[in-house]
Amino acid sequence: MPGLAIITEACIDVKDRACVDVCPVQCIYEFNLDNNALYSEVEAGSGVTENTHQPNPAAIGVFEDSILYVNTDECTSCTACYQPDVCPVGAIYSEEHVPDGSSKSHYNPKDPNKGHDHTFFIQHSRDVFAD
Ligand code: SF4
Ligand code: SF4
Repeated sequence: MPGLAIITEACIDVKDRACVDVCPVQCIYEFNLDNNALYSEVEAGSGVTENTHQPNPAAIGVFEDSILYVNTDECTSCTACYQPDVCPVGAIYSEEHVPDGSSKSHYNPKDPNKGHDHTFFIQHSRDVFAD
């Protein structure tokens, strides 16, 4: 579906949850190492869990809790999280605009990883959710 949100590498170790604050369906997840579950909150930082999912061990092991993950089955393509003023590091793209590292790629202006191929994250976002 066009417009699904994909979080890419600039989020690693930033995780400020600005995208979580604007998502109307709580489909952006954090990984809790303590109970080995992906969870989303009713409101970012509220401590009140909205949804949980089980992670795929191999996929979650790549970045563990250093990055956030969009559940692409739940994302409604509302476009809110990848508006230019939301993510401070330009980590979120709509699926069809994830840069492939080619000279024709359009990177978010704030994405520090210009020139990198980010398409890995399209499949990885799906692989992380085991259920
Ligand atoms: S707004 Fe950007 S850096 Fe912050 S958690 Fe979301 S994807 Fe990560
Ligand atoms: S596009 Fe909308 S529904 Fe999808 S993750 Fe972003 S804010 Fe949430």
